[in-house]
Amino acid sequence: MGVIVIGGGHNGLVAAAALARGGQAVTLLEGRDCFGGVASGLLHDTDSFSPEIAAELDLASRGLEFQEPAPVFLPSREGSGLLLHRDPRRAAKELGEDAEAYTAWRGFLERVRPFAASQLNQLAPDIRTSAPLLPLLRRGLALRRLSKQDIHELLRIGPACVYDTLSERFQNPLLVTALSARALSGTWMGPRSPSSTATLLLGEAQSGQEVVGGAPALVAALVAACESAGVVLRTCARVQRIQVNQGRAEGVTLEGGEFLSADRVLSCVGPRRTLLELVEPDSLPIREAGQMANLRLRGTLARVCLELSGPMVYACRPDLQVTRALIAEDPLDLERAFDSVKHRRMPSELPLDIRQDARGATVLIRCATMELKGGWTAARRGELGELTLASLEPFVPTIRSIARVTGVLTPADIASRFDLEGGHEMHGEISLDQLGPMRPSLTLSRHTTPIGGLYLGSSGTHPGGAISGRPGWLAAGVLGRS
Ligand SMILES: Cc1cc2nc3c(=O)[nH]c(=O)nc-3n(C[C@H](O)[C@H](O)[C@H](O)COP(=O)(O)OP(=O)(O)OC[C@H]3O[C@@H](n4cnc5c(N)ncnc54)[C@H](O)[C@@H]3O)c2cc1C
Repeated sequence: MGVIVIGGGHNGLVAAAALARGGQAVTLLEGRDCFGGVASGLLHDTDSFSPEIAAELDLASRGLEFQEPAPVFLPSREGSGLLLHRDPRRAAKELGEDAEAYTAWRGFLERVRPFAASQLNQLAPDIRTSAPLLPLLRRGLALRRLSKQDIHELLRIGPACVYDTLSERFQNPLLVTALSARALSGTWMGPRSPSSTATLLLGEAQSGQEVVGGAPALVAALVAACESAGVVLRTCARVQRIQVNQGRAEGVTLEGGEFLSADRVLSCVGPRRTLLELVEPDSLPIREAGQMANLRLRGTLARVCLELSGPMVYACRPDLQVTRALIAEDPLDLERAFDSVKHRRMPSELPLDIRQDARGATVLIRCATMELKGGWTAARRGELGELTLASLEPFVPTIRSIARVTGVLTPADIASRFDLEGGHEMHGEISLDQLGPMRPSLTLSRHTTPIGGLYLGSSGTHPGGAISGRPGWLAAGVLGRS
């Protein structure tokens, strides 16, 4: 009868391809009319995708190529802004007095990366054993490859806020802002939130080269890998119910009533939705039901599309051709934006994450709360478009004459269009208590569930969000062995 994979986001595609290449009969069911999930039209960065998984699935033969990510430009009202390359040698000229500290920081990240990557590339430690600290200690031993000095530094900064960690190293607030922004992706944090350095280290450990052609190219390669491995791919096939009989999954029923049987079901939609909505309530033990009810997934993302009739010229650097830009001059701008999230308000100024090409620009706003007081009405949607232009205007004075807002997706729109519970892009916030052996919860972190034959593999499971492919890959490994 084979395996049913629910959800054709990038994790579902990775899992389906891996299982089929391992000899399983796999059917992949996607509710929308296209594959890719969030990766099918919203993303800016693909530099988290695991090169190991790309190699294992032989995605190069499906046309996948990697390249160095584009530098990010941070314009400023005074001065000439900052064009930040990840590579310290390329960044040095722009960074001036911060160049040496930046080289040292990148060096530290590179030394820590193998330890962090080893945690991301394997199952979360099983701490449900009789001696729960042992698995953690065993993992901790991997730290021994670091020098004593690096271990001390890791222990010192890990629990700290990213604002403190970066401000003690760098003078230029634009640099601190650029690096802080990476720490906040998928979190419910500002740069002054404790433990935001840990999420920065996690993000940095995942980042590498980006996919040529962006998320669409990655999705196309994954679909091709599924096809060549013999996966039965179905779109417009929305699962309404995972059928459970005597504590074991035995298939799914689609909207419309079609029943498909399977020995095993791997859900690559969010863990909470899987267990609280797709499974009959009385099939799930009360402990896991409680854990899922408490999972935090408060979305903060919105997107604005701009059509451009001419190039976006940044007043502080009119000659610069920019692909990626971050509009925020100081880390405290990010903190103030997060204050608005906390208080369920619209910020008065928006930090903006911009990707630009010849046709236009897409702007991600990472401080638009799903829980906005009064809700996301049409008027508030219009306000978001207007605020985007107003926030850009001090840096691109001609913006109103060259740009037209062609689309605004509020967090509520993203939630409904991409089927994201809570509007949260990673099916669960990134925070220390929702990572590793706690993602999505203590008893669900190793991709199995209390329901026999039902597994979890979306970004809501270990090792978490971003377009890495790792949760789907690890879940497929568990299924392959079961
Ligand atoms: C606006 C935005 C920007 C982002 N930017 C970046 C970025 O730049 N870089 C980055 O690395 N990450 C980014 N992310 C996060 C990243 O995209 C996600 O973490 C990741 O794509 C989630 O992948 P997934 O496969 O786990 O889930 P999803 O992509 O959510 O896929 C789940 C799939 O399941 C389908 N589905 C849901 N319910 C059912 C059902 N009942 N039956 C059948 N199918 C169903 C959905 O339609 C969807 O296709 C961004 C997210 C958002 C929202």
